[in-house]
Amino acid sequence: MRYSYICKSLDIFRLTMPARKKTTSTTLKEDLCFVKNTIIKSRKAKAPKKSATRAVIQEQIKDITNTNAIKKSISDKKNEKMKNRNEDKVNGSSVVRRTGIHYAGCHVSAAGSVDKAIHNALLCNAKSFALFLRNQRSWAAKPLDPKVADKFKEKCAKHEFPTHLILPHGSYLVNLGSPKEETRKKSVETLIDELKRCEMLGLNLFNIHPGSSCGDISREECIKYIAEGINKALSVTVGVKVVLENMSRQGHTIGGDLSELRQIMDLIEDKTRIGVCIDTCHAMAAGYNLNTQEGFDDMIKDIEEKIGFEWLVGLHLNDSKGEAGCKLDRHENIGKGKIGLEGFKRIMTCKYFTDLPLILETPFVDENGYKKEIAILEGLSK
Ligand SMILES: [Zn+2]
Ligand SMILES: [Zn+2]
Repeated sequence: MRYSYICKSLDIFRLTMPARKKTTSTTLKEDLCFVKNTIIKSRKAKAPKKSATRAVIQEQIKDITNTNAIKKSISDKKNEKMKNRNEDKVNGSSVVRRTGIHYAGCHVSAAGSVDKAIHNALLCNAKSFALFLRNQRSWAAKPLDPKVADKFKEKCAKHEFPTHLILPHGSYLVNLGSPKEETRKKSVETLIDELKRCEMLGLNLFNIHPGSSCGDISREECIKYIAEGINKALSVTVGVKVVLENMSRQGHTIGGDLSELRQIMDLIEDKTRIGVCIDTCHAMAAGYNLNTQEGFDDMIKDIEEKIGFEWLVGLHLNDSKGEAGCKLDRHENIGKGKIGLEGFKRIMTCKYFTDLPLILETPFVDENGYKKEIAILEGLSK
């Protein structure tokens, strides 16, 4: 289904919602008025007889009961509407209608100018995409030109990439859980800078690696620092959700065990601004054997129990060079690694992974590499 169709339907949905609400309540009000007038009329009609008979009283009771039935119907309709609205929630936001589509995409280059990312995404036939918002291997960065930011927004609108399908990736130098105060300070500053770039670009998701204790502090202390850093960054920015990525258990990284992501989330003050992204290679390396149905089911169960699917805002789709539980962060091309095509078939047909950015970060093969892999993933989703 073309995204334009969904957007148009969404626009119609958005436009008609308030109108429908008004119409419904007006109609119901009119109904109530009608019933009330009928009661008054019937009272007036019966008034000349002076003494009201038992039959008249019974008639009036019947009218009042009818009025109550209409009132109940109003409240039922309201509840139904609220229920439907909740079902329209995606990424914790209530603005997007679920389409049930798997939006395969990839991490694209934004070198030179951030708006080039859209062109690069289109070349790969990507339906969602990720990008770096500044040099990911340097603490220093040129400020983002507001004119370029506007161009980015215009192109996203023109080519129909909604914000919930764009998942920028944070700098690799950032370690909010570092045992070194200096590194933590620089990390928070960089995160703030990146979140402000998201604001300028009209983006509302920002993916980060939670952090690493470097083996010098306890994991609990590291988790506390990570949450503190995120809270600080969120307090001076607006609207953008920090997305915690699961890790492969390599070294002293936090987030190989999904309950560590939950511990960080529990410490975040503004719960509307936190989310989770699952990297399939990291999940495999951390111990879920995604090559088997059992391993996949284990991962789903843990996402559900430890995180909750309402917090899942994206996935990184990478095959894994290493076996399940290898703890190594080594991405492989789709179908060429230990997860395999069968594993990705399960991922691309999983009902929990629809309406999310599904981002390839696989090794470079050739110019058309991502395009081919997106075609493979889309084939698997059927
Ligand atoms: Zn990552
Ligand atoms: Zn990785």
